[in-house]
Amino acid sequence: MEEEITNHKVNCLVCGDVLTYLNESEEMECSYCKNIYESNTKCVNGHYICDHCHSLSAYDLIKEFCFNTKLEDPLEMACILMRNPQVKMHGPEHHFMVPAVLLAAYYNKRGDYEEKKKKIVEASRRAKQVLGGFCGFWGACGAGIGTGIFISLITGSTPLKVKEWKQSIMMTTKSLQTIAEHGGPRCCKRDSFLAIKEAVEFLKENFDVVLDINKEHKCEFNELNKECLKNNCPYFKD
Ligand SMILES: [Zn+2]
Ligand SMILES: [Zn+2]
Repeated sequence: MEEEITNHKVNCLVCGDVLTYLNESEEMECSYCKNIYESNTKCVNGHYICDHCHSLSAYDLIKEFCFNTKLEDPLEMACILMRNPQVKMHGPEHHFMVPAVLLAAYYNKRGDYEEKKKKIVEASRRAKQVLGGFCGFWGACGAGIGTGIFISLITGSTPLKVKEWKQSIMMTTKSLQTIAEHGGPRCCKRDSFLAIKEAVEFLKENFDVVLDINKEHKCEFNELNKECLKNNCPYFKD
């Protein structure tokens, strides 16, 4: 596992496999922004990241990836983003990542890409206000709040709305309940996975929208987490 983690730092940012260097440049599609560039470096599975995306901050990277991906599994998207070294083991970037991958999956499923971008931009504005340490100091995990931001954005909730207001707060309540029941200390990976799972269930029950997520999902980041709950975490894999 240690080796697997290290691989994402030196090898392919998408899959962790080794890079290959070609004698002649060829056209390649960037795995994040989907733009085409000429390059002579890609991984053995064909992934290529352009120089622009290589130098993005965590927030911009999440935005760029979610704007352009056509994936419909928010858990899969979160894992791809979490493999990038800009996304730390723990950190407030997860507070934006959760609504961003949920919005991307939701609007990809509807084929509404313009709306997707607008909502992701607004989610980033709101998520920036959910600072690091919110879980332990404010009593509300930012990944859980991220699911409330997501439902607020797809329903158009405001402080004056009735049904939408209730749905947004109910969403956060369900996520925080699950996150709290799994116990501390915080893990931004576990809490993000739990929040995404709750949001997918909430969408199905309340909006009749089904997003297919990997039910067998396991965490690949536990070696980086000193406080990992190990066998007490539903996502732990030796
Ligand atoms: Zn790769
Ligand atoms: Zn790119």
